[in-house]
Amino acid sequence: MAGRLHELDTNRVDKNVWLEFTQLAADYKAVNLGQGFPDFSPPKFAREAFCKAVSGGHQMHQYTRPFGHPPLVHILAKFFGRIVGHEIDPLEGVLVTVGAYQALFCAFQALVDEGDEVIIVEPFFDCYQPMVKMAGGKPVYVPLRPKVGGSAVLSSGDWVLSAEELASKFTPRTKAIVINTPNNPLGKVYKTEELQVIADLCIKHDVLCISDEVYEWLTYDGNKHVKIASLPGMWERTVTIGSAGKTFSSTGWKVGWAISSELIIKRLKAKHQMSVFDCATAAQEAVARGFEREYELFGTPESYFQQLPAMLHQKRERLASCLGSAGLQPAMPEGGYFMIVDISSVTVDFSDSMIPDDEPHDFRFVKWLIKEKGLATIPVSAFYSPEHRKDFDKYIRFCFIKVNKILISIKYSPIFIVVSVITSFSHSNSLLFV
Ligand code: PMP
Ligand code: GLN
Repeated sequence: MAGRLHELDTNRVDKNVWLEFTQLAADYKAVNLGQGFPDFSPPKFAREAFCKAVSGGHQMHQYTRPFGHPPLVHILAKFFGRIVGHEIDPLEGVLVTVGAYQALFCAFQALVDEGDEVIIVEPFFDCYQPMVKMAGGKPVYVPLRPKVGGSAVLSSGDWVLSAEELASKFTPRTKAIVINTPNNPLGKVYKTEELQVIADLCIKHDVLCISDEVYEWLTYDGNKHVKIASLPGMWERTVTIGSAGKTFSSTGWKVGWAISSELIIKRLKAKHQMSVFDCATAAQEAVARGFEREYELFGTPESYFQQLPAMLHQKRERLASCLGSAGLQPAMPEGGYFMIVDISSVTVDFSDSMIPDDEPHDFRFVKWLIKEKGLATIPVSAFYSPEHRKDFDKYIRFCFIKVNKILISIKYSPIFIVVSVITSFSHSNSLLFV
């Protein structure tokens, strides 16, 4: 047995940015604007629905329908059918999963075969690349780039795909493209015209689209979330992925879903059945009640889908103003709950902090920020393929779904006081963090 155990290759568990930086933030008791989750409770109606579910009948504590708790799949089909303008069969067109994460996993496992190419738009939520590889696929990257010509990047909308570059990535081996709108980490909300370019290429080359829309309700400044599945010819070839964690500020419930054509969902079901089989009943019941409420209140001021973005809009402004007063210019996100900041004007002396020099600059910067200044963020190059990391290592990501006390506290953290003082005395572009 010892021999077998020695054969096990522990290096096959890749380093993970969330594990690494969440642990570091905890070790240094840093103010945590890193990993994306609310530091407050879900809304009262959702908490009450959850409590009612767990204190309800014995069925709430037993297995439910493996592909999704019946009340949940029914309301998801009704709710999203209305939005996407397509009738959705609750039993055949919806799969409930353990968070959006498992929906992504099932989608890649079900749709990608050995040697298939999958186009991934960079920067991307970090699990897409390893999941494509686990399915035997080959990731092919296409970057969102800051628009050239303008001076500073002021908005996440300034990050765009080149239609020509995107078209050049489609080959006879391309099986699927993965998009994420609103995007993590940029906050970019794709416009209909941008989605149309992607849709036209998918249709032309007979390619599937995996659309990660977990932040769909979180858009600001009149930006509207558009579902690529609602564009002509896209319904049959798109898997739309959502998350109750983002929808009802309840990341710990780990309820997600995939919605698509019956043919595609059937393939995903096979993977789900052989991996987790069934998801937690009470959490699904609570999410179902939440959606039923939102169905009735849709578009009204009482709807949580109006209230949450309104609250986050204020938090976005608050964080941007703290960063701005320290001389750091964020790219204002159009959606989601993250904000990226260019750190290239900041000069740091890493020498005292024992920070390895073989890592991308943003990784080193974030480690230094946690260890020396007690503030945790996430390096944006973690959202790039290892091949491209070094080219995109000048941004860090802040999460703003945090209570105001925390957002304001960063203004008084040592790093921001130092930077603000330096910027108010100097007009130099190079800030020295000491
Ligand atoms: N996609 C994106 C873009 C995300 O940011 C996250 C992180 N929550 C997920 C998927 C996974 O969502 P869940 O927590 O529902 O598994
Ligand atoms: N989606 C969250 C983020 O981007 C959490 C990621 C995770 O824990 N895997 O911060």
